[in-house]
Amino acid sequence: MFKSLVHPGSFKGGVHPAEAKELSMDSPFERMPNPKMIYLPLSQHAGKESKLLVAKGSLVKKGELLAEPDGFISAPIHSPVNGAVTKISKTANLSGVPKTVIEISVSEESEPSYLEAIDFKTANKTELLDRIKEAGIVGMGGAAFPAFVKLSPPPGKKIDKLIINAAECEPYLTRDYRLMLEYTDELISGIEILMKIIGVDCVIGIEDNKPKAVEILKNKLGNRTDITVRVLPVKYPQGAEKMLIYAVTGKKVPPGKLPMDVGVVMQNVGTAISVFRAVALGEPQIEAYVSVTGGGITKPRNIIVPVGTPVSEILDFCGGLKPDAIKVVAGGPMMGNNLYDYNAPVMKATSGLLILTEAESQPGESIPCLRCGKCIEVCPVNLMPTRLSQYSKLQRFEDAEASGILVCMECGCCAYECPANIPLVQWIKLGKKEVMKIKQQERKSA
Ligand code: SF4
Ligand code: SF4
Repeated sequence: MFKSLVHPGSFKGGVHPAEAKELSMDSPFERMPNPKMIYLPLSQHAGKESKLLVAKGSLVKKGELLAEPDGFISAPIHSPVNGAVTKISKTANLSGVPKTVIEISVSEESEPSYLEAIDFKTANKTELLDRIKEAGIVGMGGAAFPAFVKLSPPPGKKIDKLIINAAECEPYLTRDYRLMLEYTDELISGIEILMKIIGVDCVIGIEDNKPKAVEILKNKLGNRTDITVRVLPVKYPQGAEKMLIYAVTGKKVPPGKLPMDVGVVMQNVGTAISVFRAVALGEPQIEAYVSVTGGGITKPRNIIVPVGTPVSEILDFCGGLKPDAIKVVAGGPMMGNNLYDYNAPVMKATSGLLILTEAESQPGESIPCLRCGKCIEVCPVNLMPTRLSQYSKLQRFEDAEASGILVCMECGCCAYECPANIPLVQWIKLGKKEVMKIKQQERKSA
């Protein structure tokens, strides 16, 4: 589909699924009209659920603080709309897990209640960092890690590079691509804020299937040497944190370690834009930028919606499901989660809703392992997926841990490549959950 620009060295393993980005890549963002109801989960980020500050009957304004962080790794939640709290409920989130949710009946738009705007050119590092924390900015690359935590490395951890993850290696998704085309100035200002906080230069890592975005970024950046663009070959999962760090710096993040352990802070394109808006406009993270795509949706497009909008309303806005649609996935086809309840709300870090037809989702019957070794060949972190999935199936969690199950980044390459259609990554995910549960219990009893 695309002509490659460069092909430097790359990480071990990985796969080349069909990109299918053409479905939505030429659709500029459209703002969807507000829904009648918003369902705002208190847990939209990695870490602890936020603490509720409102009750049934509270009248809320767009931008108002509704829940405060509970502990260091947590984030505040603000109202994406004007309205009234009708209920505090337990509602399934995008992964099907029941979570505490603030239900808001939406009323007319009026002047929002944002934070005070800050001039980032004159503000100091602490003011900028406080604002990112106060605005509830979480990483939009998938893990929804509170951004200020990543930007506050403990003393002794020397950071020497900021990497902006613009790889968007998941097939189908075009949110980050459109953000780079349509919000280039906001992105560059957001990067400047992040650089000021950490005090380092920045590299934007982008796959070579986005030539227009590369061109526009290079034109805007001109001869700057503090922010550079690194064009990388298309290979899934190029955008995984560890893979991108290796591609850009040549450094390997050891198992169990973080990017900051090799001197890197990584943020996603969307996160940098949210950072700019929080600082320069005082806007908390209350909107989601979402690619709605796949062969099963009538009008694939990129949309902006208030966080908490039910998926069902988004599907309607996009013309509804086609007759041959068989599943809706939150996220991309490789790492996304199948949706069980279309009334689940989108969250701060939701990057896409993927509606697949039977032909696209290649269900296929599982057969016994052929011992071909392909899953091992493609695993970017040198695991033995077939063994890990077996341990998980047999509930041999100690063996699974000893074989490195916690190192698995759930990229799905193994399952994608498996000719026997064994749901390797699904078994591994289950095993990881159990291992983590056991470790947590051990910690508690200790
Ligand atoms: S074992 Fe984990 S990291 Fe390796 S290919 Fe499978 S999902 Fe990816
Ligand atoms: S790719 Fe599938 S069939 Fe081949 S060894 Fe791995 S699990 Fe077995």
